[in-house]
Amino acid sequence: MTKKVDQPTYEIDSAVHGRFDERNTIFMRRFWDHAASFHGVEYRDRAAERIATGEPGYSRIEFARILASWTVHDCFGGAFSWSRLGEADPSMMQFDRYADDPDEMTRQVKKTAKLFGASLVGICEVNKQWIYSHNRSGDAVAIPSECTTAIVMAIEMDKEGVATSPEYASAVATGVGYSKMAFAIASLSEFLRNLRYKALPMGNDTALSIPLAIDAGLGQLGRNGLLVTPEFGPRIRLCKVLTDMPLVVDQPIDFGLTTFCKTCDRCSTACEADAISTEPEPTFEIACPSNNPGIKRWAVNADGCYNFWAKNSAACSNCIAACPFSKIG
Ligand code: SF4
Ligand code: SF4
Repeated sequence: MTKKVDQPTYEIDSAVHGRFDERNTIFMRRFWDHAASFHGVEYRDRAAERIATGEPGYSRIEFARILASWTVHDCFGGAFSWSRLGEADPSMMQFDRYADDPDEMTRQVKKTAKLFGASLVGICEVNKQWIYSHNRSGDAVAIPSECTTAIVMAIEMDKEGVATSPEYASAVATGVGYSKMAFAIASLSEFLRNLRYKALPMGNDTALSIPLAIDAGLGQLGRNGLLVTPEFGPRIRLCKVLTDMPLVVDQPIDFGLTTFCKTCDRCSTACEADAISTEPEPTFEIACPSNNPGIKRWAVNADGCYNFWAKNSAACSNCIAACPFSKIG
């Protein structure tokens, strides 16, 4: 049963925990971390070799589909713009800032987010500890002080596609999820701007999506290192828009996931890289340099994960497909 709780369901050791530097993600470390086993490795590089084996699930057609699925995310840079896209429609210039009571504004924002593709929407105050210290270029990240609220959206990924993991069709489901994220954050941001509020759309950039989603009441952190939602499990992608619009925040939720994960090993068993902890209890231990210390959890060895992606020549979703909350069957 899902209950609302007063405090988020994670435990932080503030003596150790600090803001995460985006350069420490796997996707950045492959460029600069000479000590990493995957230094210089682009995980799709082995695609031609893999396709040549003729193995079912790894066809040239499916690979073309993967790259195509990312098109909106990768080619629509405006989706991540912190300013209005293009010229404001002149018809909007006749309006001042819209104001209504926060309950009604919240209702409208959530309705709009769903119309633009969000499967779940939650709202939280922006906890600064979830903002990256530096972005992938090494610049210090600063959020305008008035943007104190995050609208966090979860976008469901295709059940049938995820079920094929680690075959290429699962990576198509991932890419489609990312492209839908770009559409959702761009469109919701323009909606907020049309009401004369600020909007800072984000995918995986700028801030950690999982703790923000926990704060916003969308789910809990699972053994697999992912946000697990009651509705779709971890079979979602996350994105967020920060704003100065006054909105009503949601409470975090607890649906018993931490207790469930203690005796469930489906994701760790399904992981071909042995990257997911099999320990019964979560701890403060980290498993690789891409884990931020000071968070109690089952830390995922992202290095091992990425090496499997490179071997697979595509992203993997085994730990999503295997989770009973994904409801794949
Ligand atoms: S994505 Fe695949 S390799 Fe990575 S942790 Fe999940 S199951 Fe393991
Ligand atoms: S598969 Fe089981 S252990 Fe892994 S995240 Fe889902 S519920 Fe938790």
